Amino acid sequence: MSKTIAVIPGDGIGPEIMTATLRVLDALDCGLAYDFADAGMVALDKHGDLLPKATLDKIAEHKVALKGPLTTPIGGGFTSINVTLRRHFDLYANVRPAISFPGTKSRYENIDIITVRENTEGAYLAEGQTLSEDGEVAQSIIRNTRKGSTRIVRYAFEMAVKKGRKKITAVHKANILKTSTGLFLNVAREIAKEYPQIEFNEMIVDNTCMQLVMRPEQFDVIVTTNLFGDIISDLCAGLVGGLGLAPGDNIGEHAAIFEAVHGSAPDIAGKGIANPCALLLAAADMLDHLGQVEKGTKLRQAIRDTLTHDRDSVTPDLGGKGTTESFGEAIARRVAA
Ligand code: ATP
Ligand code: MG
Repeated sequence: MSKTIAVIPGDGIGPEIMTATLRVLDALDCGLAYDFADAGMVALDKHGDLLPKATLDKIAEHKVALKGPLTTPIGGGFTSINVTLRRHFDLYANVRPAISFPGTKSRYENIDIITVRENTEGAYLAEGQTLSEDGEVAQSIIRNTRKGSTRIVRYAFEMAVKKGRKKITAVHKANILKTSTGLFLNVAREIAKEYPQIEFNEMIVDNTCMQLVMRPEQFDVIVTTNLFGDIISDLCAGLVGGLGLAPGDNIGEHAAIFEAVHGSAPDIAGKGIANPCALLLAAADMLDHLGQVEKGTKLRQAIRDTLTHDRDSVTPDLGGKGTTESFGEAIARRVAA
């Protein structure tokens, strides 16, 4: 059985890390076919459009996309391509795993936390942001809905079941933001009752930040609203040594886009030394999403083993002397074994 996915190599180091990632996916033998699509500066040069309709059509058709970093030109009134994609496909869940890997600079060694962030409402509404004419009063709206809260919490619990996770922490500020995050918290409590096999607890966001820094091992899956999720997912990335190994999954009902959290890294583009791991970890999440959880697990383990036993092949950002290609090859050899 073969499944076709849309593949968007993207800008800067995108094509290099995508080549390495597809090489590893081929070695994993997961029966994927690739339908390549352009977006970003590459697409602007080729088709005069940052996000061509043909690309949107391919994502809609295949429902799953693996995407490299995209550059949105500064100035010229372009809306961020990533924001456009999120709105177009209503990608309401932003899933950000933070996993400790051996041989990386970090404060902790055994972290495995997934943050599930609501990505369409909360404090990040485009509408309702006002500044008074005299410039003295700025205002914005926080809006959470029962529908929005329900689908994000439901997604977190279903994901936890599928991936065999044990515990979900709902992060909120319902003691102060009583209505907006109160609604989110109430929905989380209701849905938690439907999943007695998953341990559920709730935590206020400020305490969560302190607990994450002091005792991160108590967390498994965190589910939270847009603003808190934005901050907490970067905090978690920092706990495991930064964005070099951070995948980001953007999930909607009709499409899902898997990507690395880092940008296009123009300073090292074309040099063959970009670290492909963040995109590879995004690919592992994509395999989970496609129901190939065993392959996803195998891929993460191969990355772990390569970082432990094959330090020569690793890219310079992780302290090695290798290249994107040597790192990818080393991982490909392990998944094929
Ligand atoms: P963009 O404008 O696309 O966001 P950026 O200039 O903000 O790009 P990032 O890609 O976010 O750059 O990267 C910031 C720093 O981290 C750069 O010095 C970059 O070289 C480095 N970096 C990012 N991704 C990787 C990677 N995969 N491998 C090695 N270094 C990386
Ligand atoms: Mg950047």
